[in-house]
Amino acid sequence: MKQIKDKYFVPFIEPKPLQARIKALAQEVNKDYAGKNPLLIGVLNGSFMFVGDLFKSIDIECEITFIRVSSYQSTASSGTVKHILGLKEDIQNRDIIIVEDIVDTGMTMQEILGQLASNNPASIKVMTLLFKPTALKVPLKLDYVGFEIENKFVVGYGLDYDGFGRNLDAIWVLGE
Ligand code: 5GP
Repeated sequence: MKQIKDKYFVPFIEPKPLQARIKALAQEVNKDYAGKNPLLIGVLNGSFMFVGDLFKSIDIECEITFIRVSSYQSTASSGTVKHILGLKEDIQNRDIIIVEDIVDTGMTMQEILGQLASNNPASIKVMTLLFKPTALKVPLKLDYVGFEIENKFVVGYGLDYDGFGRNLDAIWVLGE
């Protein structure tokens, strides 16, 4: 049991299975993109550890960059609008792999996909370390999923609770 601020978390995915799964995902990328030069786009902040470990196990030619998604409340009718920040690379005709830490409702990823697709990449695939299928609210094709998990709040390995817990080397889940 671990306390982060006012909440208690219990172990969920230990470092060993976590790293083994990430190596397997990297192998899939090595196979699927053999002879190509994909551009990995990590979504900050949560994905930084995952992308780092994944990248070390990719042994084909491959580039990496990072984006951040800002969200702000615009008008009441349009709700929350998300903007991609920090993409300096020209992604036209590139093979893109978006790398996320977790897909929950899927709205963030749907928005990112829409905005990146408008820049005419050669292909776009989506990889997420964690996926909560029962929380998904929009149609979304996920090409690489590390672990499908229950709809519970998790921290660690880059994921935070109110800014804390990102430094944990395993995934922890909110206790009952
Ligand atoms: P979505 O747009 O898919 O609902 O949400 C994606 C974002 O919500 C993730 O990038 C992450 O920042 C946050 N999120 C969703 N579920 C969790 C969770 O269980 N734990 C943490 N730490 N963040 C989450």
